[in-house]
Amino acid sequence: MQALGRAPSLTVDSLWVAGGLYGNPLALAALVDAYDRDAGPKALVFNGDFHWFDVDTEDFAQIDRAVLSFRATRGNVETELATPTADAGCGCGYPDWVSNETVEQSNRIMERLRATAQSLSHVLPELAALPMQMLVNVGDERIAIVHGDDSSLAGWGFSQEALSTTQGLAAASAAFERTGVQVFASSHTCLPVLRRLSEGRTVVNNGAAGMPEFFWRKIRARNANCALSMEGRFVWRAVREFVY
Ligand SMILES: [Zn+2]
Repeated sequence: MQALGRAPSLTVDSLWVAGGLYGNPLALAALVDAYDRDAGPKALVFNGDFHWFDVDTEDFAQIDRAVLSFRATRGNVETELATPTADAGCGCGYPDWVSNETVEQSNRIMERLRATAQSLSHVLPELAALPMQMLVNVGDERIAIVHGDDSSLAGWGFSQEALSTTQGLAAASAAFERTGVQVFASSHTCLPVLRRLSEGRTVVNNGAAGMPEFFWRKIRARNANCALSMEGRFVWRAVREFVY
């Protein structure tokens, strides 16, 4: 939680958070197009796992260049590329409900992706230097951008599954108490979440900006000084005033 105990690294009227791009150039183009149409002080943050299916060297370089021209935090994918840990595979931290087949597939993808990343000499130090978390103010609200959950890059504490249990809700509430933020924006689990807890505290997980299974339904929730919405099917957006 090192970044979350400090002063916000930026203050904007409109914050876009896109997690799980997974190397999808078409999703990236659509996202940037939508973002460009948003007027006023704004920021786009890619909160990790922006690489994955971009095993082709040219694709990888293009995604990397585009994402790092905005703000970005590391996901487990970028972390495992930059600083691989022994036997960690993709570093996904898969819980028990994920099948062994999925785990094995992920590890094979990571193996290929690692070879691609290592062929581009400038990439790994840049990925290693990215922060793991970011604190942003939208209006008066403090929004913590994480990848998994507040305590782990590969944490599943903000997943649909965890937040559907009493224990999971209690753990999420404790994370808000510890950090004093109003919103956690996460990713990592591939399934979207918008969950209001007490006192308007909210967990938003955009699922995956680059995966096709995402749904189109627009969800809105309002906090005292910022509103949350989902733009298209790609990204969570927090805005200073409720303007819809
Ligand atoms: Zn992840």
